[in-house]
Amino acid sequence: MPNEDDILELLVDSLDLDPTDATAVDEDLDEDADEELEEELTAGLEEELDDPVEAALRRGAPLLLLHKSHQHSSVLPQVADDILRRHGGALQLGTIAPMPRMSPTSIEAYFDRMSTAPVRIADPECFARDDSFGSSLAAQRDGKPYVGSTSKHWSYFTDVQKNGHTETWVRDVLDAQRSCGATVLLTPGLWGDPATAKYAIATMRQHAEWSRRALDADEKLAVNVTIPASWLTTGALRDRLLDEIVDMDEQVFYLRVRWPLLGQPYGQLIDRTILDGYLELAAVFDDNDKVLILPNTGLTGWVGAACGAHGFSTGIGSGERAFADTRVIKINTKPRPAPTRRVFAHSLLHVVDVTTAEQVDSLTADRCHCRFCRAQRRLPAGQWDKALAGAHYLRRVGDMTAGIATNPRGRRVAARRATRDARRIVGDVSARLPLVGANEPKHLELWADLLR
Ligand SMILES: [Zn+2]
Repeated sequence: MPNEDDILELLVDSLDLDPTDATAVDEDLDEDADEELEEELTAGLEEELDDPVEAALRRGAPLLLLHKSHQHSSVLPQVADDILRRHGGALQLGTIAPMPRMSPTSIEAYFDRMSTAPVRIADPECFARDDSFGSSLAAQRDGKPYVGSTSKHWSYFTDVQKNGHTETWVRDVLDAQRSCGATVLLTPGLWGDPATAKYAIATMRQHAEWSRRALDADEKLAVNVTIPASWLTTGALRDRLLDEIVDMDEQVFYLRVRWPLLGQPYGQLIDRTILDGYLELAAVFDDNDKVLILPNTGLTGWVGAACGAHGFSTGIGSGERAFADTRVIKINTKPRPAPTRRVFAHSLLHVVDVTTAEQVDSLTADRCHCRFCRAQRRLPAGQWDKALAGAHYLRRVGDMTAGIATNPRGRRVAARRATRDARRIVGDVSARLPLVGANEPKHLELWADLLR
């Protein structure tokens, strides 16, 4: 029998069994996880427009949201600075802080550091309440709650609502976001259970109406929708949701879909029926001049933005790149084995191990020269910094987003070309460097088909 002290519990969101990609079943995103900010940012971009937040929510340049992660978020202000300096006119920038998983002071400090990003969202994550999807989330984490000790700071998150959620409670949810300095407010976003679809739709609408009544004239609102993927894959549910959204007066929707376990660590969604649902959603929003924001979607959100969505969020950790089912794996080793070093290979549009990424760069003679990669290469031999790798990924997502936004032939054509280029490179390098297992970009064929 293994000694209990030697069992590590790790949280994964993929079917792949490699435990080195797992994160510990954690913990809250408190300020202790952050290091001090390394440099001051130059401000000024916000002054160029009368209301930069309104401009960022207007259909036009796509909105890229940097989603704060548990670790390594101290690099995000530099990423935001880089992206704005390179692509300020081509895209809009924002950030999201997961409100109940942080303390109020740490969110305020974080928003301060991210002040160059006009859109600052404190996501209330009400779906994780005990009376919503919280117990299911905990079950996927071996009983550990999605929101831990920081919930004590947030009465809106813990208040018992015996007879349904009241207008006063919805106001409390908005007040909590205001107190942190959010520039776009979200409705609560309780879990939309398809088993009670009528109630879920009515709640979404009611909470939007109550929120609208509680807003000051200059405040911005997005309707927060959190739903399982069956809303996208079941025609009747999808139509019902879209009919309601089109009928509502609200323009901006922040829509998060729970995905099944992913096939690969840091992988993309490769479920065709869910992707088709996303594309229909994006097209309906586009046709009706409404604004669709897709939090926690990684590069799937980029495909969405190519097809009519306004914006998406991604981040350094896997939880920020995908809102996917998780499971706990237990490994009988202590100390924990060194994590596999993975990095975004921009030419493949895929995350691969570092050795493979270096070989791909060498074969394609296309090494990244962003300041984060240069800093990574200056580290002493054998050292590797996950924050720099994450910053490189986000910088590249900024490049990709600006790339589709500025293509004269349109976003969809631009994304199709980028996908075809990546497939061609996969084909070119495969003869000398087989891309297998987690290194295989399984999503590219599907994307090429979707973007036709
Ligand atoms: Zn780079």
